[in-house]
Amino acid sequence: MMVTAEEAGKLYCPLTFNSGEGTPPWCEGPKCMAWRYKDHTTDDKWIEAVQKAAKELNDTSPSRTKAARHVMNNRTKYGLPIAPTHGWCGLAGKPEWWPK
Ligand code: SF4
Repeated sequence: MMVTAEEAGKLYCPLTFNSGEGTPPWCEGPKCMAWRYKDHTTDDKWIEAVQKAAKELNDTSPSRTKAARHVMNNRTKYGLPIAPTHGWCGLAGKPEWWPK
């Protein structure tokens, strides 16, 4: 399940179920070592931005490296976030969409 850090703070952490009183049962999100951020380069928005930049820059290489680098350095221009926004608890395994 992919959530923002704020949304994660409203979800139970399975590690706290038997930890006794005083321990908050909520997920700590990015403060926890188990938290994993979604790689923004797997987003459809990222792929669309690279395709758009490839046309703008006339980058016809198979990997579109020049276009991808351009998008990475100009994320706001393409409406992409500067920092990752969504993640998941790494203890629960990889998300369903993770490439095999
Ligand atoms: S990332 Fe997982 S282990 Fe860490 S606080 Fe959240 S639910 Fe608990």
